[in-house]
Amino acid sequence: MNFIDLKKQYEAYKLEIDAQIKETIESTQFIMGPKVTELEKKLAEYVGTRNCIACSSGTDALLIPLLAKGIRPGDEIITTPFTFIATAEVVSLLGAKPVFVDIEEETFNIDPRLIEKAVTKKTKGIIPVSLYGQAADMDDINSVAKKHDLFVLEDACQSFGAEYKGKRSCGLSEIGATSFFPSKPLGCYGDGGAIFTNDDKLAATMRAISVHGQKERYRHSIIGINGRLDALQAGVLLAKLGHFDEELGLRSRKAEYYTEKLSGYVRTPQIKSHNKSVYAQYTIRVKRRDEVASRLMENGIPTAVHYPLPLHLQPAFSHLGHKEGEFPVSEPGAKEVLSLPFHPFLTQKEQDEVIRNVKEAVEYYK
Ligand SMILES: *Cc1c(COP(=O)(O)O)cnc(C)c1O
Repeated sequence: MNFIDLKKQYEAYKLEIDAQIKETIESTQFIMGPKVTELEKKLAEYVGTRNCIACSSGTDALLIPLLAKGIRPGDEIITTPFTFIATAEVVSLLGAKPVFVDIEEETFNIDPRLIEKAVTKKTKGIIPVSLYGQAADMDDINSVAKKHDLFVLEDACQSFGAEYKGKRSCGLSEIGATSFFPSKPLGCYGDGGAIFTNDDKLAATMRAISVHGQKERYRHSIIGINGRLDALQAGVLLAKLGHFDEELGLRSRKAEYYTEKLSGYVRTPQIKSHNKSVYAQYTIRVKRRDEVASRLMENGIPTAVHYPLPLHLQPAFSHLGHKEGEFPVSEPGAKEVLSLPFHPFLTQKEQDEVIRNVKEAVEYYK
């Protein structure tokens, strides 16, 4: 059994994906060009924002907005410690300081009630993460931000396609950033990402930054990066985007099936009533997680841990001087979360096998 099955997905859309790749190779338009423009248009329509800037990865989709906002040493950015390193790494790369705020027990997303206490004169923005495919509480976050004149950059790297109060993730705050890393809900065949905003001026600056700060060829108005999306990746995404809603339907049915069969045995994902998750991960919570995971592996069930060590305890952030015990919701969470095999092509037989083995392992280590 595979944790994520990209092979089955390729087989399902092979003709379209191959045709897209072939067209790009034959056109020899590898950088920028019509495929990237078409993708940006479709993604912006899908999310419901005025602008989409395709870029080289989810990490760059987070970095480019921070560059556009002029983030520099001395600035502080509020974010969650319960995320992938990229969320806070981009802050540190610019010499600014990530200021961590603990998460909500229920959703693993930043707790909006704790944000205000972390705001200082140096705070410039907030990066909430919509983890596991469920949007953070963006209304509450946006209102704290508004009060203190901060920008909100949603790290939607796991939540492209998710809905919050009927609106799509990526379009829930001033800026949204997503990733098309192969294993994300919408993945390409390499690295890719996209940035979304309704602010045209900010969009123009971010677009310029993604191409070495140029608005006209070889006239560089600001310092930028090489942050473009490949035309080949744009083609793959165009082919997959046509099937994406159908995949989201499958994802949610499969997640509901896991939840129905596993609740009462383990803590299953809790999705708020105003949210529609895309289940980037189907993540349960269990005691003695590492032992449960090893037993599952021995029985042929691959699992993953997203993520075993919260960012404030990562060696790379040791200079921030955090200690164990500072984030009482994130820390036990990191010891107990376990992501199960999950993708739109998972069969009921496979799910039943996972369910049986999870119940058995949890009972064994009770
Ligand atoms: C995947 C991910 C990123 C980084 O995306 P890349 O495309 O791998 O650079 C950032 N934040 C979160 C929460 C992610 O899951």
